[in-house]
Amino acid sequence: MKQEAVKRIMAEAQAVLEWSKEHPGSTLQELEEQVQKAVNAIRAELMEAAVAEQGVGEPLAARCSCGGRWVFKGYKERQVMSTLGSIRIRRAYYICERCGAGLFPPGRAIEKPRRME
Ligand SMILES: [Zn+2]
Repeated sequence: MKQEAVKRIMAEAQAVLEWSKEHPGSTLQELEEQVQKAVNAIRAELMEAAVAEQGVGEPLAARCSCGGRWVFKGYKERQVMSTLGSIRIRRAYYICERCGAGLFPPGRAIEKPRRME
């Protein structure tokens, strides 16, 4: 994951430099546009890789606010909007054994409990 992200980031930078070489008469504004496009692509990519480096997450508190224990339910991917663009994050997912609240760490219980009846 990490090496692939670094490769894609390098490829974006490389593409800008190649474009520049192939367009020797381009204006500063045209070069700025090329750089901006690459930077936009890199921002979300780098953010996603940085989040992935932190692992899949564990609950910050051993218990839910209701006192129930967090029970591991597997892994989930979620699309999240960051200030650097939309990113995919993969996290461990927990459910409170008592009230059914869901937790996608880090963070607080973020999903309303579902009625089991
Ligand atoms: Zn609970």
